[in-house]
Order: sequence, then structure tokens, then C-alpha cells
Amino acid sequence: MKRKEKYIYRFGNRAVDGDESMREILGGKGAGLAEMTRLSIPVPPGFTIGTNACRHYMKQGCLPAEFDDEMAAAMDWLGRSVDRRFGDEQNPLLVSVRSGAVISMPGMMDTILNVGLTQGSLGGLAAQSGSLRFALDAYRRLLQMMGTVVLQIPKKEFDAVLDAARAREKVSTDSELSETALEDVVQLFNSAIFRYEEKILPQDPNEQLRLAIQAVFDSWGNERAEYYRRLQGIPDHLGTAVTVQAMVFGNAGWDSGTGVGFTRNPSTGSREMFGEFLANAQGEDIVAGTRTPLPIAALASKMPEVYAELASVVHRLEQHYRDAQDFEFTVEKGKLFLLQTRSAKRSGVAAVRIAVDMVDDGLISKFEAVTRIQPASIGEILSPQLDFSAGVPEVLTVGIAASPGAAVGRIVLSAEEAVRIAALPGSDPVILVSQETTAEDIHGMAVAAGLLTANGGATSHAAVVARGMGKCCITGAKGIFVDEIRGVMRVGDAVYSPGDWISLDASTGRVFAGRLPMCMPEEKNPTLDTILKWALDLKHLDVRANADTPVDARNARSWGARGIGLCRTEHMFFSTDRLPHIRAMILASNSDERRLALDKLLPMQQQDFEELFRQMSSLPVTIRLLDPPLHEFLPSLDEVKTELATVRKEGNQDAINRLLILSKRIQTLAEINPMMGHRGCRLSITYPEILEMQVRAILQAAIAVAEEGVTPNPEIMVPLIAGAEEMRWLRRKIDETATKIFEDCGVAVPYHVGAMIELPRAALCAGAIAEHISFASFGTNDLTQMTFGFSRDDSGKFLDSYVEQGILKSNPFVTIDREGVGSLIRIAIGQLRAANPAIVVGICGEHGGDPASIEFFSSLGVDYVSCSPARIPVAQLAVAQTAAIPIFDKESATQQLSEHFVG
Ligand code: PEP
Ligand code: MG
Repeated sequence: MKRKEKYIYRFGNRAVDGDESMREILGGKGAGLAEMTRLSIPVPPGFTIGTNACRHYMKQGCLPAEFDDEMAAAMDWLGRSVDRRFGDEQNPLLVSVRSGAVISMPGMMDTILNVGLTQGSLGGLAAQSGSLRFALDAYRRLLQMMGTVVLQIPKKEFDAVLDAARAREKVSTDSELSETALEDVVQLFNSAIFRYEEKILPQDPNEQLRLAIQAVFDSWGNERAEYYRRLQGIPDHLGTAVTVQAMVFGNAGWDSGTGVGFTRNPSTGSREMFGEFLANAQGEDIVAGTRTPLPIAALASKMPEVYAELASVVHRLEQHYRDAQDFEFTVEKGKLFLLQTRSAKRSGVAAVRIAVDMVDDGLISKFEAVTRIQPASIGEILSPQLDFSAGVPEVLTVGIAASPGAAVGRIVLSAEEAVRIAALPGSDPVILVSQETTAEDIHGMAVAAGLLTANGGATSHAAVVARGMGKCCITGAKGIFVDEIRGVMRVGDAVYSPGDWISLDASTGRVFAGRLPMCMPEEKNPTLDTILKWALDLKHLDVRANADTPVDARNARSWGARGIGLCRTEHMFFSTDRLPHIRAMILASNSDERRLALDKLLPMQQQDFEELFRQMSSLPVTIRLLDPPLHEFLPSLDEVKTELATVRKEGNQDAINRLLILSKRIQTLAEINPMMGHRGCRLSITYPEILEMQVRAILQAAIAVAEEGVTPNPEIMVPLIAGAEEMRWLRRKIDETATKIFEDCGVAVPYHVGAMIELPRAALCAGAIAEHISFASFGTNDLTQMTFGFSRDDSGKFLDSYVEQGILKSNPFVTIDREGVGSLIRIAIGQLRAANPAIVVGICGEHGGDPASIEFFSSLGVDYVSCSPARIPVAQLAVAQTAAIPIFDKESATQQLSEHFVG
């Protein structure tokens, strides 16, 4: 026979059916109440309706059939526990009905208090409490909450009645309203409900209870709860638990009250009980903000005994949970009750301070401290944030949070304008807004405070460059349209002109109109340094940097990067002094001309590499040969045509000829699908001179710094390899070039050659490729693009819909798709290690800085992840957090994974 499913779990009055370990069914609140009961902490008795009931309700649209009997028994037990009876007119039991999700969602769902009170039991409650005023106040609250939450009557209907009553009595708060005023309020609330519902509030307590429970279940699906879940990545199917609890009354007089608090300061993390208390009030009065609560410390003088008991109880809770708690409590006629305890939400600054203090106190280990820090907190501590302390204004549009931080500035719509305005003395910061960015916008990007693009995704050009620069960036903000003809930015019907202020919250992808205040990071945060030091002690794989410039390299080194995992050499070509030479190289009509242009670039590249080697001393520096399609270095055809029109008017024949050649070359190089076109190692195969120049620059730089006493560790990496033959050919070319260089210089230096695995074919043929390389690095950006067939630059247009519809769990350009792309990586690593056990394997795509992806890479036993300098501390923390996750060691990984060998 099928076992009857249990839906209800009691707590309080020495009975308890659950404990903290049953969080998934009891939700955070229910689990906390069960645990507090076990610790003999005073809680009003009650029971929790499990999340299984909510899931049933969401699926079937009704409560389970067997629920009613269990509920009746529970209500009966509850009444006996407090010596009252639900529905009894003389001695009524009143209950609160509250939500309690497994992962806390503060303030997102609904609560109803005083359920069970009716016109008929008002007198009974008045007698029980000794105050008719109190009973009326409780009833008007029930009407108000049932009215707004269950019956969905606009809140303003009830507010208007209370406003008028206060005005009539010339008092400023509801708690000062007289008995007569409250009688009127009750009557007017009844009329308001009647106006909307054509009936009064149900007078059957069981009906009230059922409606209240269903309303709380329904509130799991309300808009703000859904939005919050999406923001926090909480799955929709979990559902909420509901706690039904005997009411205790904080509004039973001036020896009563209600409060919320934290065991430590949630903003700074300092060791102080922190919170607020409101005398003669119920919980929602604090939230409503109609009366100003007192700081919790004031309770020490107002109710010293209660304060002492509260301090001792919450201290016990903190010791028991070994974590800072946030708690709710009520004082009824001098007696303290705890209503809730849960792990306290805290700022990033507080999180690191609390974790370090708790290690000092011997409460938690260093590893636990490291695992308790959300990687996002590090970004929050280190980068500027918008200051929402005065509230969150209306969101203009939302895009992809491509590079975290915040920026506030004036809109500019072109890179040139950004550069021009930034150069003006005393100019305000600018935000570069564009449909998309191209390599040519780099100067504008460098001077802008933040970047906002309508198109693009998490690994499109703007995102990668911004991340590299540690600059705040939102891409794929589909709501905006940059109207180049009118020179304005449009969001729906609203028009924003250059010079208007705009604010970016790139940690969540939200865009706001206007100039929001910002909070700047502290110069130094010693507790963060401590956490990061502990993280480094725990690391089991290296974190390298994606760094293209000496400044990036220095920055990366200061964060403890263990080398450079990716230097995108093309980023070195975009500066104004180099672009003409790379253009000359592209425009060359034969290989001699090409070599001439490359000769000009050689010393510049060599100088760059020397500086990278110096910064990294003996740590590996992985330099990737030229990757992007060549047309990316040329201006757009439209620009050339405009210039041509001008020089034609001037009759400048030389310029006309030059521009005609240029436009012809642009057309020749144009590709329908450049990402799958003439790029990556294909460039080295068709133009080996480019490879020769770059290898020469790398190795001559290595020789030069070796002479200074530095021990360079150059790694030459070939992009977009598809198979072993290609790699063999290129390896030979690199080695021949190296031999020649060493002969020319009369000295040799060690170097490594590796392949980027960023095409599905390369992943599947990695074993054969491994014979020609000593390291392999996964370019997970291209690998994701090529595996899904989703363009890195254009998928912003549809990926949101995929995530919203639940077709994809998350954007695969942000967090690695374990099932598809991840399988390819797994297969490839197996093959690589089987073919060459000494091979070094890394990740250099943007996923190398994403904590969830790092967890996966770590489980595959990679040797390093590489990410932009600004994300290094986040990656180091994420690596340390995976230290306790079982990783198969490399030998067993080789065995297990080589079962996937293909061919
Ligand atoms: C990649 O494809 O993951 C990569 C690192 O290269 P890029 O982003 O420069 O194409
Ligand atoms: Mg790539």
C-alpha cells in the first residue's frame, strides 16, 4: 500500500516533527522554528505545511485531498497547546500564516496575521486580552491583509480610511487611534470589501485559513517573487512552505512590541546586535514604515530583562548555526518569543568580515570561511556600485551583465565623441552607447566610464574588451536602439540625447535613466586580503590572466596570477601607432610588401612581449598568434566611401587612388560568415609571414630579457586548430622559424607550442593533435559558439527567450554548458592526457572567470583557468571553493575519460 504523504510538521510546546536537515520540505522558516523548538528557545507553537503541498497546489490547482484531515488534527493540537480553540467565540485561537521558501526570498511573498478572528469572536478576544481596542485593531489588520492579499483589493482603499481616521483624531500613527475610531475603521473596511466583492470577509475561520494558505502559495508566483528568483537563480519548481503559528501579540500594549534584528551588523559585519524594535506594534508596522522604530539597543533601557534574554538567545542561535543570523521576535506583555531565524543576508564587506571573525572565534574553519563568500561579493567589494539606499528607481532596460561594476555618466554615441569629450578639461564621465562595438571603437571604450550596447552577448567584442579593461559593461540591452540618423538613443517612445545622464548597474545588467549616486570601493580591505590569502593556500589549480598589455600583466601579478594564459596579440594592433602598419600589411599585394609592413610591426611586438616576460618573470606567458579575420583591422566600407566623396570634391588624386585600393581590398576581404572564415591558424597557413614575424617577436623578446637575467617562459599558442595535420604543419613552421632565429641570434631559449581547442572537431581529435603540442587551452567562447551554432555576437537577440522559456538554464556564453560543450571538453581532456600524460591543460575562454564553470573545470582536473585581471580574485576564490569537491585525480581521469576516445 502506498504510504500516505505527510504535509504537516508541528513545532513548539515541546512537540517537534522536523529539524534543520528538513529544510527542503519545511523551508527556511519552518526549519528554523523546528530547530529553535529543539533548542528550547521560546517560539509560539504552530506547524509548517511542507513545500510538497505547494507543489501539489501549483500542479493541480487545489490542495491535496488528504490535506484536510491532517490540517484539522494539527489545528486541534495547536488549540490545545495554547489553551484556545479555533473558531471559538469566547476563547478564540488566532493564527499567522506566513511563507517560508527553501532559499530565503525576503519580502517577496505574502503574510496574513490574526486569521480566525470574526465579528463573533471580537468580544471573546477583547475579554481574553482585556481590551476591546486591541481586538478591533487586530480585526482591522485582518480585514486589511485579507483584503489586499487574498481579495486583491487595491491597498490605497484601506490606506485612505486610515489616513482619514488619523486626520480626524489628529494623531500621526495608527497605534494612537481610539477605540471609537477603530470601530469606524472596521466598518469602513467592511464596506470597502463589500464594494469590491459584494460580500463581507468570510466569517468561517476555516474558510479564512484556507484562503490565507492558498494566497501564500499563490504569492510564490507573483511578479516580484518571480523576478527575484530569476535574479538569484532560484528554480521555479521548488515552491514555498507555509507556517501556521499561534498569534502572539506585539500590539497588546506598551509592554509589548515587535522587532527584527541581526546578530552582527549586516552592512559592515561588526560584532553588534543590530536591528529595530517597535513597541505596541505588529510585524508589518515595521515594514510599512509608518512609525519610526527604535534601534534594538534602546530595548536595553526600555525592557532590560527582555533585552538580556534576547541577546542571550540570539547568541545561542549564532553559536548553534555557526553563522550570523537575522531574526524576528515579538514581545507580548513582557514575554519574548522568537518568530524566525535564518542565515543573515549581508553585504560583501560584511560577509568577508564575519567569515574572518568566525575563524578567529574558532567557530568555523578557514575552508568554511572561504566557501561562505559568494564570488559576486568580491566584485561588490572591489568595484563601484550604484547606491540604492534611497530606493531602486524604475529600470529603463535590462541587458547582459557582461562586466561587473557600475558607471554613471553622460551618453555618447560614438567612440570619437567619447575620446573628444573625455579630453576636455573637467569633463563629466561618459557612457559609450552603441548598437554594437567593433575593434575600432577601442579608443572610445578606453576613455568611457562604462559601455552599453544594444546587441552582442557575454563574449562579444565589447564584453571581452571591457572585461579585459576592468570596465563596467552591459551588452545585448535589446530595449535600446541607437538611432544613428537622428543621433539619439531610443527606449520605446522615450528619446535620450548625447549629454543626458545614464546609470549602469552592470552587476545585474540594469540600466537607469539619470544620474544615480555611487558607492566607491574602499581602498583597502584587510579582511578580503585574508580571505584571498586563505583561498590561495587552498588552491589546487592555477589561475592565470588573460592579459594583453604590461599594465594588465602587472595588475594580474598583483592579484597573484600564476602567469598569462592568453595574450590576444591582435589587441596590440589597434593602437593608432600600429594600425597603419597592420593595414599596410593587409593591403600588400605580394609577400615582399607584406614582409616590409610586418618588419615595422616586429620591434613593437617584441617590445610588448619583453615587457610581459619581465612582469611575469619565470611564470608562463601564453601568446596567441593572430586570430581575427583581417578585415577587422580595416575601416568600414561606408567610412571609406564617405572619405572618398570628400577627397573627390577636393580633387586629391593620390588620396582617391589610395581609397579606391582600400575599398577594393575591403570588398575582397569581406566574408559572409567571418567567424567561420579566414581567421585563426588559417591566416598563418595562407600568410606564413605573419606567423614568422610573431614567432620572431616572441623569441627575440625572450632572448633579450634572458640577457637581463629574467627566465622567460614563452608559450606559443595557435588559435582555431581543427585537426592534427594542420597542427603538424604549423608546428613545423614554428620550429623552423625558431631554429632560424636561434641561429641568427647565436643563442636559444626554451619555448612551448600549444593549440587552442575551440572547434568541436579539435575536441574530438585532441588525441592526435596532442602529438604536436605540449599544452592545450580550451577557447570556450568559440567552442560554445561552434557547438551550439549560436553566434557570439548575435545570440543576444534570442538567448534571453531561451532562458526565460527554460529551454536553457543559463546563457552558455557566461556559464559553461556542461552537457554539450562540457562533454566535448571532457572527451578532449581524456584524449589529451591519454596521448601525453605530461600535457598542460587550461581554459582561456571567458568561462575561466565564471565560478559555476570553474567548479566544472576543476572536476575535470584542468591545470589552470585563465581570466581577465579584474576577475582573478573571484576565480581564485571559486577555485578554493571547489577544493573539497571530489575531483578525480589525473590518472583516474585519464582512465575514465579515455573511454570516450573517438576514432
Ligand atoms: C575563445 O574563443 O574562447 C577565446 C579565448 O578566444 P577569443 O575569445 O579571442 O576568440
Ligand atoms: Mg577564440
